[in-house]
Amino acid sequence: MNQLSDRINNLSTSATLAMAAKARELKAEGKNIIGLSLGEPDFNTPDFIKDAAIQAINDNYNSYTPVDGYVELKEAIITKFKRDNKLTYTLPQIVVSTGAKQALANVAAALINPGDEVILPCPYWVSYSDIVKLNEGVPVEVKTSIDTDFKMTAAQLEAAITPKTKMIWYSSPCNPSGSVYSKQELRELADVLQKHPSIYVVSDEIYEHINFSSDHASIAQFEDMYDRTVTVNGVSKAFAMTGWRIGFIGAPDWIARACNKMQGQVTSGANCIAQRAVITAMEASPSKVQYMVDEFKIRRDLVLDLLSNVPGFKTNTPEGAFYVFPDVSFYFGKIINGNTIKNATDFSLFLLEEALVATVTGDAFGNPNCIRISYAASQDQIIEAITRIKNCLV
Ligand code: PMP
Ligand code: GLU
Repeated sequence: MNQLSDRINNLSTSATLAMAAKARELKAEGKNIIGLSLGEPDFNTPDFIKDAAIQAINDNYNSYTPVDGYVELKEAIITKFKRDNKLTYTLPQIVVSTGAKQALANVAAALINPGDEVILPCPYWVSYSDIVKLNEGVPVEVKTSIDTDFKMTAAQLEAAITPKTKMIWYSSPCNPSGSVYSKQELRELADVLQKHPSIYVVSDEIYEHINFSSDHASIAQFEDMYDRTVTVNGVSKAFAMTGWRIGFIGAPDWIARACNKMQGQVTSGANCIAQRAVITAMEASPSKVQYMVDEFKIRRDLVLDLLSNVPGFKTNTPEGAFYVFPDVSFYFGKIINGNTIKNATDFSLFLLEEALVATVTGDAFGNPNCIRISYAASQDQIIEAITRIKNCLV
């Protein structure tokens, strides 16, 4: 008998983590799987950050940390926000969490009442929808397509707003589409929100530094948006620190206080050694991690070039992050090597079984026509993976 709560029964398993686990399982069985499913840099954490962690261990940082983070780390984050985003925050406006994922979960718990609607431009990052639902909110998906570079327009935002709208959540650069909202595009969205002063914005900027062309823009830079925007960021991506589990927010202080309260009951402060290491990461010039961004750009170009020779894959040109999100609906309804492909999930499983390449179905991101390919893998792996994909389709 299933005695689990409705809350957990209704929660989906994270599709990105599930696919990564499945790929690991198949690898353990001896299958030569190429994992392009997980959004995790394949670089090592830079030495100057590792050295700071070793120093922190030797300096006996071993006690519980302040729930909202060490003051020195919050000060370094304030300096980072000023330097990179021209955003001015004070200490009570910063909360350090166990990854940006916890930061997002805190914000949802702090702001969502049952029945509140949260607008999610699609495709959105896999966990947004379930975090909203876990807090009894209602995700409202705004469909975009490859033809508009997967970006929500001001008119679409306007049309999605109802008296129940509480928030809008997006990531830019976007996981999974790699799209980047320009300052002008954000201004257009902000103009719509001007007419709706009780709507809040969660701007997830965790891929901020992995941006290949335009300048990074934060919606909180607009004076009229600052008081109702939560800016989310973290070190997992640009600093190759996924396992260290540090993320943070800059927010209006009443929201930050609520997140602090939530965290104080659920996890307490984030890990002491990781926080000390992240002080060093925050204080460093972003140019110190530019070598990873340069490599991601080379791989982005490589993936686009290789995919342009695979029939039935339609791509946009991602400007950031490390994903491509091809529309593969060309294959729906077809039978390939005896496999019936009804949808993106079938297609992604087909690639896993026939090409031994792990990707993630677009369904997990609210777009059923696409699959997500992470190019956080070596150029050799990318070439091998796309060659295998092509070979099993043509
Ligand atoms: N937001 C986005 C858009 C992400 O891709 C990720 C990756 N996991 C997160 C948040 C969570 O990051 P973290 O590792 O800091 O929890
Ligand atoms: N953000 C990464 C991804 O989208 C890591 C996995 C996760 O946290 O869900 O693949």
